[in-house]
Amino acid sequence: MNTNYIDILYHVVGPVAKISHNRPAARNAESQRLLIELEDAIGRANADPEIRVVILAAEGEHFSAGHDLKEAQANRGHFSVEARWEYETRHYYECALKIWDLPKPTIAQVQGACVAGGFMIANMCDLLVVSEDAFFADPVTQSLGTASVEVLIHPWVMGLRQAKDMLFTGRRISAQEALSFGMVNRVVSRGALEAETLTLAQRIAESPPFAMRLIKRSLNRSLDVQGFRTAMEAHFDTHQLSHNTEEFKKVRDKGLSNAIAKGKSV
Ligand code: ZN
Repeated sequence: MNTNYIDILYHVVGPVAKISHNRPAARNAESQRLLIELEDAIGRANADPEIRVVILAAEGEHFSAGHDLKEAQANRGHFSVEARWEYETRHYYECALKIWDLPKPTIAQVQGACVAGGFMIANMCDLLVVSEDAFFADPVTQSLGTASVEVLIHPWVMGLRQAKDMLFTGRRISAQEALSFGMVNRVVSRGALEAETLTLAQRIAESPPFAMRLIKRSLNRSLDVQGFRTAMEAHFDTHQLSHNTEEFKKVRDKGLSNAIAKGKSV
């Protein structure tokens, strides 16, 4: 089944829905339209009783370079505190948590760059299958002067020490490093990525769906009782503060053109 999405693709393979970023020429930078379509597709997969597992993937060389900075600068550079809060709540925070909270199991299928906003979205999935050339980074503290991205999933999926190392330096984490941290489940060759991810999805799809829903609920609640959701909300507020500092304005003005030139994003 195909739908009329533009910035994503929605395919169904038996009990598996595959939602793919589809802006490969822009390194799958997440535009407003892409995120709106992604959220719609997540809702569609959830509402379809035939779908048991969702794969979040990407067309082209890279999973995603993150939020679309060119669009952000053109449309939201002038935003007030209130307008940015509203926008980032709606399209970044709520969209991400919708993936985290999806009652059905999710798998991120990651190749190439998985950076900043892309890192945030991929890590909302339950499992990650990545190719050997995949790499992970969140350099926006250094390049834009913000406190990371909107959803600070990092310490929960890679451990506190590793999250500090990555965020304090802005460096790239390789697929093998991510595997050693326990942040990803499997590293496979680029050629095998699609098939391996689908095989895993189909295996999970054989499990009784209501029991799957309940075990996911319990697993996610094991983080909620440790303060996961409170920590996410608190960081969102802190991140908003970082958008309104003098330091942010200075670093952004210097770094934005560099970041756009390199295809990175916030
Ligand atoms: Zn932000």
